[in-house]
Amino acid sequence: MLSIHSSPLGPLGAKNTGGMSIVIRETALALGALGHRVDMYTAAPAGRLERVVQLRKNVRLIHLNHDPHGQISKSGLFPHLPWYYDALNAFVKAEDGAYDLLHSHYWLSARLGGWAQKDWYVPHIVTFHTLGWLKNRFGPCQEETDQRIGWEYRIARTCHRLLVATEAERAALVEQCSLAAARVAVVPFGVNVATFDIKSAREARKRVGLPVKARLILFVGRFVAVKGIERLMEAVSMLHTPEDVRLLLVGGDGAASSSTLKLRALSRRMGISRKVIFPGRIDHAALVDYYNAADVVAVPSYYESFGLVVLEALACGTPVVATPVGVVPSVLRAGENGIVVQDQTAAGIADSLSRVLKWTAEGRIRPREVRSTVMDYSWPVVASTVLNQYAIANDTFCRGDSPAAGR
Ligand code: UDP
Repeated sequence: MLSIHSSPLGPLGAKNTGGMSIVIRETALALGALGHRVDMYTAAPAGRLERVVQLRKNVRLIHLNHDPHGQISKSGLFPHLPWYYDALNAFVKAEDGAYDLLHSHYWLSARLGGWAQKDWYVPHIVTFHTLGWLKNRFGPCQEETDQRIGWEYRIARTCHRLLVATEAERAALVEQCSLAAARVAVVPFGVNVATFDIKSAREARKRVGLPVKARLILFVGRFVAVKGIERLMEAVSMLHTPEDVRLLLVGGDGAASSSTLKLRALSRRMGISRKVIFPGRIDHAALVDYYNAADVVAVPSYYESFGLVVLEALACGTPVVATPVGVVPSVLRAGENGIVVQDQTAAGIADSLSRVLKWTAEGRIRPREVRSTVMDYSWPVVASTVLNQYAIANDTFCRGDSPAAGR
């Protein structure tokens, strides 16, 4: 597996490290548990980690750039891809290794994977995770480059199989790149239901130092424009309730980062600075206390290719208020486990938040029922579905069929 710009062991919630890292790591571990040998390669700085990290007997993470001080920016990585490709080949050669199959994550990895596909003569599977043109279409800023969009198009038409996490993403990819629909498979992501489980909200709040009596609205994720944090803050400023409402913004790049400073300044301008709490980035497993502490989890994104936070919150029995992005339309059911926000203005989000806060206060939403709505999403299921897709890609490859294009 190639995860060049972002490490599967990177700091979650930081600008370049989010759901994709969890997906790669958990899928690799679950494939490993099924007896397969998996190597993941990344160019992200290793920090204090070894050059080769053994995650389990048959699953490794290999750092191609083992410079603890080295910083790569996602936007500056493209011209360096040939260097990383040489480093990848040198590592494989030194071990006298070879692979049966290659799975690239994100377009930068897939660009490199395209070279390996030819040189190693192996089936190449690609998961883009997000698509540049969709981010530009739905996000608040048009910041994805023509270079990215152009390469996504070319890669989609030349790899052996594409995996996406939702039907909507599949339809968009097929349409945009004029692909044969059968070459794109939907494999929804999962949640670790052992880690994310129901606990006492009161005890969870005490453990993480949150007020026991307030009504808590929780956001978890990277502090980037596409997540819609600003419209969530505006919605919170519109909530008129006698209760003590707090908004918890988990994630970001630290208290001194420009994204956090900008949100703090915005909270002051909106007159809600006393309501907004910034706990910073929280370790993945420790998030269980935050999800359990919350009355409702808000996902106000403009675009998500999936949205792991939705599943994690629901697995903890906490209802979700979310815009209709990623997995949301297929998992959220009004009144049962949250609300899909149709009116995506701040006023619309505020209305949905107050309805769900009311339902939880009245005991109309029951944590056990909320949790039961995500029990079908697990990493072992994801791994076996991915394996089936690898087998199909391998057949395509062995038959020598033309790759993904074909309409
Ligand atoms: N996350 C985390 N700690 C944080 C912030 C985020 O562990 O402080 C995790 C979160 O639990 C989720 C992932 O980062 O698993 C974000 O994934 P999602 O699919 O929601 O969004 P993406 O980052 O892929 O846009």
